[in-house]
Amino acid sequence: MPGQMTGPKKYLFTPGPVAVPPEVLLEMARPVIHHRTSEFGAVIDRARQGLKPLFGTKGEVVLLSASGTGAMEAAVVNLLAPGEHAVFVNGGKFGERWGKILAAHGMVGHEIKVEWGQPVRPEQVEQALSGAPEARAVFLQASETSTCTLHPVEELRAITERSGTLLVVDGVTSVGVFEQRMDDWGVDVLLTGSQKALMVPPGLAAISLSERAWERARGLKTPRYYFDLARELKAQRDEHSMAYTAPVSLVLGLAKALELIHGEGLERVFARHALTADATRAAATALGLKLLSQRPAPGVTGLLLPAGVDGGKVVRYMRDELNVGVQGGQDQMKGRLVRIGHMGYVTPLDALVAISALEQALAAMGVSFAPGAGVAAVQQRIAGQAGAPRRAVSGQGR
Ligand SMILES: *Cc1c(COP(=O)(O)O)cnc(C)c1O
Repeated sequence: MPGQMTGPKKYLFTPGPVAVPPEVLLEMARPVIHHRTSEFGAVIDRARQGLKPLFGTKGEVVLLSASGTGAMEAAVVNLLAPGEHAVFVNGGKFGERWGKILAAHGMVGHEIKVEWGQPVRPEQVEQALSGAPEARAVFLQASETSTCTLHPVEELRAITERSGTLLVVDGVTSVGVFEQRMDDWGVDVLLTGSQKALMVPPGLAAISLSERAWERARGLKTPRYYFDLARELKAQRDEHSMAYTAPVSLVLGLAKALELIHGEGLERVFARHALTADATRAAATALGLKLLSQRPAPGVTGLLLPAGVDGGKVVRYMRDELNVGVQGGQDQMKGRLVRIGHMGYVTPLDALVAISALEQALAAMGVSFAPGAGVAAVQQRIAGQAGAPRRAVSGQGR
């Protein structure tokens, strides 16, 4: 039982899963419909169509009944044959996962090891490719969630085009979080999962391929059955269903969530995430906490704890005493980091709650800081932003 006046109210500020809006929950509570009906056909069409602007593509977006990792595996087995080579960026837990998936399928992964918190430098990708001229693809994250860091996907096009490699991007904490321009950036594969910015419970993934990547996928003989993307595309585009039984309730939820996102306006959604992240970073500075990331992501912020403070305890205190869910660090950052998510059903005002709870937890751990300094920093950022349009240069007012 929480020790304070929390009541039953719970806050979920983890970098996935995220809180699901009541509108989406209600939609998913509707009676289950059959997946081979025109009724479901209309829903899946709306969901796939509604995802395109989030991906920044005019191409097809395909849904998969899987978590985000399923879409990562689908990308690998639809683009590479066993024995073929690829370069992958390992700047954290999820980058490392690309290497594990490649190895599991007998592909040869050439690792670019990046220090946690650092973005990969385009020269590193160029170098890795010149050391592995047989590489057919480059795999990386747009936002590496374990280190709360953005990789410069938008700067890689010239490099991958020159080397004739496919550019494969895990956008799980990027799609719907900040602008993605898949077509313009020369991204060949972009994928995401439902439980991050899409504000849907876990279990659904979405993936989009460039023309080049579809060609490659269609010609490839790598063993695969459930994650055969060409087959899945055919079912979704031509038959308005999924190849196998669709998770109809999740797709209903996704269509509703996209209605909310587009109703708000994508640019406003991105601005909301950016402001929430910015306010959280300002709070960190005010509390004397450093950020793990040198190029912080807008979807999640990683705050380094002072030496001697057990991050696991901070996270548990926030969850058990205050009903505020945040996440700790993974692997080498275990116990040293608090990660606060800003994706999806979160507003800048929620940063006040997250930072207030963090301050309470830090105080309980005996950390000394000026009480309220973090909360005040959040408030200043929010208030500054609210006043901004009136003072802004022409064209920026509403
Ligand atoms: C959450 C996440 C995934 C997907 O993980 P699942 O647990 O399979 O949904 C993949 N990549 C990144 C960057 C993530 O944040």
